[in-house]
Amino acid sequence: MSVPARTTVAIIGAGPAGLLLARLLQRSGIDSVVLEHRDRAYVEQRQRAGILEQGTIDVLRACGAGERMDREGLPHNGVELRFDRRGHRIDFPSLTGGRAVMVYAQTEMVKDLVALQLAEGGPLLFEARAVAVEGLEAGQPSVRYVHEGREHTLACDFVVGCDGFHGIARAAVPSGVLRTFDREYPFSWLGILADVPPSSDELIYAHSERGFALLSMRTPTVSRLYLQVPNGTDPGDWPDERIWDELDLRFAVDGDWKLERGPITSKSVTPMRSFVTEPMRYGPLFLAGDAAHIVPPTGAKGLNLAVADVVVLARALARWHETGAADLLDAYSDTCLRRVWRAEHFSYFMTTTLHPDPAQSDFDTRLQLSQLHRIADSETAAAELAQNYVGLPFE
Ligand SMILES: Cc1cc2nc3c(=O)[nH]c(=O)nc-3n(C[C@H](O)[C@H](O)[C@H](O)COP(=O)(O)OP(=O)(O)OC[C@H]3O[C@@H](n4cnc5c(N)ncnc54)[C@H](O)[C@@H]3O)c2cc1C
Repeated sequence: MSVPARTTVAIIGAGPAGLLLARLLQRSGIDSVVLEHRDRAYVEQRQRAGILEQGTIDVLRACGAGERMDREGLPHNGVELRFDRRGHRIDFPSLTGGRAVMVYAQTEMVKDLVALQLAEGGPLLFEARAVAVEGLEAGQPSVRYVHEGREHTLACDFVVGCDGFHGIARAAVPSGVLRTFDREYPFSWLGILADVPPSSDELIYAHSERGFALLSMRTPTVSRLYLQVPNGTDPGDWPDERIWDELDLRFAVDGDWKLERGPITSKSVTPMRSFVTEPMRYGPLFLAGDAAHIVPPTGAKGLNLAVADVVVLARALARWHETGAADLLDAYSDTCLRRVWRAEHFSYFMTTTLHPDPAQSDFDTRLQLSQLHRIADSETAAAELAQNYVGLPFE
C-alpha cells in the first residue's frame, strides 16, 4: 500500500477509538492515515471489553459498521445484582425510557471496523510504530513512525493520539501542560473465557465477603467470568477447578441456580485503575480513549468512553472541514471531560460498592450492603444505576 507523506488527520492506534474515528472522518470526506504498532491478528484477538452502550450501538449502525453486531450481538435489557444470597434485577428499558445495552465483544467490533477500513477507507498500517509526534508548537505537526524496518514522516493538520494508556501521544505534550488525576485499587480481576453457555441470560454482578465476581458472556456458547483477586496474582496459581470452586462460592444464592462449568480457554489478570488527563488537547494534538483516561472495568465504560470521544472529535473536525470554524475543536476537551468524569464516578461507585477492600472493616461491608439494598428497593436509586449503565445520551 502506498502511504502519502501528508494527510489531514494522522491517527495513532487502531483500537476502537482510532478505527472508529477513521471511519467517521471518511464519511465526512476527511482523509486520514491510521498507524498501528501491532499486527492485524494481535489487534483483532486482544480480549477486552464486551458491553456496548446504547449510544455506541447507534453510532456503529449510523456509520455502516453495525450489520454483524445486529446479527450476532446479544441485546440485554437488564443486569442482576446478587448479594446476601439473593438476586435483584435492574430493568433497563423501564428505568431509562427504553434504552438498553448489547453484548458484542470488542474483538468483533474491531474486526468489523478493520475490514471496513481496509475495504473502503484510507491507509491503515499494521506494524507501524509511531516513535515521535513533532512540530506541535510550530503548528506543523507530523508523526515519525517505523514501518517495515524504515523510518517515515507523516505530515498532517492534526494528530489524534488513540494509542491507549501506554502510547506516545500523551507523552509528546510538554511537561507542566497536562494535569493528571488517578487512583489505583488494591485488587485486580482474574478474567476467564470458557466454552460453556452462560448460566444466566443477563450479567450477574455478585457482592460477597469472599470478593466480587462477575458473570458475563461473549456469545451464546462462550462465557466470560471474573473474580476479584489480590494485585500481583499469577493466573498460573489458579488451576481451572480452583476458579470454578471460587466462582461457585461467590455466586451462591438461595434457590436452584447452578453455575455451568466448561473448558477454560483463556486466563488473564487485569489491574484496576482510574486515570484522567486534562486537557485532552494540546494545539493540533488531540487525545482520545484510553490515551486520555482509564476506568476500572466494573461499569463497562472504557470502550464506550473511547467511542464517545471520537464521536465528539469527528463532529468537530467535520465542522472545521466544512466551514473552517474551530469552535467545536476548541470545545473538544471540555465536552469530553464532562462525560469522562461522570463515567469515572460511576465506575468508581460500582467498583467500591461491589468489591470488598482487603483492608475494609465490617462497618464498611455493612455500608456496601446498605447501598445495594437501596438500589434493589428504590426505583430512584435503580434508575440512577440503569441510566449510567446504558450510557447518557451524547451531547
Ligand atoms: C486487559 C484489559 C481488559 C479490559 N476489559 C474491559 C471490560 O471488560 N470492559 C470495558 O468496558 N473496558 C475494558 N477494558 C477497557 C477497554 O478495552 C478500553 O477502554 C478500550 O480498548 C479503549 O480503546 P482505545 O482505542 O482508546 O485504546 P486501545 O484499545 O488500547 O488501543 C490503542 C491502540 O494503540 C496502539 N498503539 C500504542 N502505542 C502505539 C504506537 N506508539 N504506535 C502505533 N500504535 C500504537 C496499540 O497497539 C492499540 O492497538 C479493558 C482494557 C484492558 C487493557
